[in-house]
Amino acid sequence: MTTYLTPALAWRRMREGNERFVAGESSHPNQDSSRRSSLVENQHPFAVIFGCSDSRLAAEIIFDVGLGDVFVVRTAGQVIDDAVLGSLEYSVGVLGVPLIAILGHDSCGAVSATKAAVDTGEMPPGFIRDLVERITPSVLTSMRQDKHEVNDMVVEHVKQTSERLVDSSRVISDAIESGRTAVIGLSYSLAEGRANVVSGIGEL
Ligand SMILES: [Zn+2]
Repeated sequence: MTTYLTPALAWRRMREGNERFVAGESSHPNQDSSRRSSLVENQHPFAVIFGCSDSRLAAEIIFDVGLGDVFVVRTAGQVIDDAVLGSLEYSVGVLGVPLIAILGHDSCGAVSATKAAVDTGEMPPGFIRDLVERITPSVLTSMRQDKHEVNDMVVEHVKQTSERLVDSSRVISDAIESGRTAVIGLSYSLAEGRANVVSGIGEL
């Protein structure tokens, strides 16, 4: 029998884990062999985290969770593509996760690269250009609001990523409408280790 958390309780669990991590009091739950054995047949993660690939943003560590706790999708600058949408729809539609956390962070290299491309008009080579193109709307919106710091752009990009996710996916927007899941936007401070709430969609 699977019992799903509400979006609010799922966020509380993530927040409490992050507070332990910030305080240097991580409890490293669900990381032993008995937990591993209990998960062989199936998984019931209580959240999906869609965040930047940055090596300092290790999802299970910063929220102090373990095996089977969170479904994780990460791309540089948390840019959305079809595979990301498919992964998120799987977590919501098939696994039934009650919370989608969008995780950006200060001093993000992908957002900084996009700001540089917009400032200079010079695009980076190869598929890095694809990342920059997907972050450009967030950078332009920030500039129009007279916010020119990379960290302001990160916050805007978390918000826009959340909105685009819901706009793009029927599976996700239906789940939000019925109250089965919600989206929370987070901006993580590399120095402090804290995930600050910057936006939300649905009932939390
Ligand atoms: Zn980043």
